[in-house]
Amino acid sequence: MRMQLSKNFYLSELVHSNTAVRLGIDNTPGEAEIESLRLVAQNILQPIRDHYKIPFSPSSGFRGLELNRLLKSKDSSQHVKGQAVDIELPGISNLDLATWIRDNLSYDQLILEFHTIGEPYSGWVHCSYVQKMARMEVLTFADKKFSQGLIA
Ligand SMILES: [Zn+2]
Repeated sequence: MRMQLSKNFYLSELVHSNTAVRLGIDNTPGEAEIESLRLVAQNILQPIRDHYKIPFSPSSGFRGLELNRLLKSKDSSQHVKGQAVDIELPGISNLDLATWIRDNLSYDQLILEFHTIGEPYSGWVHCSYVQKMARMEVLTFADKKFSQGLIA
């Protein structure tokens, strides 16, 4: 089933996981998770695609609990609910991408993740979206700790 979530994004891209395929884990989202992924595609991924005009798929989107635990992520991760994506754009630094998201989109939580200070291409951008009560929280995870804001 090829389900389109927005103009350029399909459900399969937001559910695919090499780890799940390799280990034979079922990573099928439920209806609530699919609706959350649709909101992420429409409010986060598609505006990024339209702005940069670069095709991309998120490196991680929905992660069922089994997959999420294997990846040593917390059970409370928004990936489990289908509310978060990890993104990198070819040729665009993660610092630039995160800065653009911060300044142009509505989001719940934006993290410059596993970033190395002084290396703008390092790590990746984690971004979540929820319809209600968005926190608009911006963090950098570098040197094994979270800091407020985007740290270059
Ligand atoms: Zn993430």
